[in-house]
Amino acid sequence: MKDRKPVKKSIICFVFVIMLMGLWDRYSPTGFIKWDLYFPLNSNLPSKSSAQLLQVHFLDVGQADSMLLQQGEEVMLIDAGNNADASLVVEYIKNHNISSLKYVVGTHPHEDHIGGLDAVIQHFDVQNVWMPKVSHTTKTYGDVLQAVKEKGLKITAPTAGSTFSLGAAQVHILAPNSDTYEGLNNYSIVLKVTYGSTSFLFTGDAEALSEQEMLQAGFDVSANVVKIGHHGSRSSTSIEFLQAVKPAYGVICVGTDNKYGHPHEQTLELLQQHKVDIFRTDINGNILAESDGQNITWRFAK
Ligand SMILES: [Zn+2]
Ligand SMILES: [Zn+2]
Repeated sequence: MKDRKPVKKSIICFVFVIMLMGLWDRYSPTGFIKWDLYFPLNSNLPSKSSAQLLQVHFLDVGQADSMLLQQGEEVMLIDAGNNADASLVVEYIKNHNISSLKYVVGTHPHEDHIGGLDAVIQHFDVQNVWMPKVSHTTKTYGDVLQAVKEKGLKITAPTAGSTFSLGAAQVHILAPNSDTYEGLNNYSIVLKVTYGSTSFLFTGDAEALSEQEMLQAGFDVSANVVKIGHHGSRSSTSIEFLQAVKPAYGVICVGTDNKYGHPHEQTLELLQQHKVDIFRTDINGNILAESDGQNITWRFAK
């Protein structure tokens, strides 16, 4: 009889701890599935099927690139817009209940790709930072190095031909294939992400020279969706490369009335001739492609 009270107390404590764990899980961006196990009938939770999708967000960052990929609980960010887009990119990621990024990729050191990268590295738990082996003299580039250092991280340059996992998706590195180039664009890290029978190709600002190298290396560049190289510039998307990629869809990340005249008319004509359906951040705003491993569906938010 003496022990009865403490036993009751410990039962109450145990139940309370379990409830707290449940609450913590509910608000933890990575805890949804666990919560689902405790309360399988709670209909307010995201359906389990969202964990079975590869979600690819093309953020509208004007004349710049930023793509957010999520499969299961693993997330990759490819580029982070201009310096002025830093808070936009950080808020976008936060709004999707993401606190941890497995990979943060700066395709090459131009501002319209790495501008917001320092802020992303500062605000989130980052496991890997990928950038090509080339430096730049700008403050923007220095800021990224500083943020990497302050977080105790190291920049690595993934080798063309290597493969990594993003949840149940595979990330294949296709470029760069040389040690040195004249311009920074051809240093772009090019990634192909495959999920089930679907595939996405992210080309940064890689130009015809790098495209040629990928073909010469014998890489399978074919993809259902391609992020059109260099904002639709005529310096990228060579005919040979486009015919090898054979995309059904192309996404052009581009700003309204930009000073470069991107996307170039001849690139648009080439894509039209090859029956590529085009989406553009200047027209469609934020673009979300979702793959269930077999089909790709599209959503837009202007
Ligand atoms: Zn660019
Ligand atoms: Zn560039």
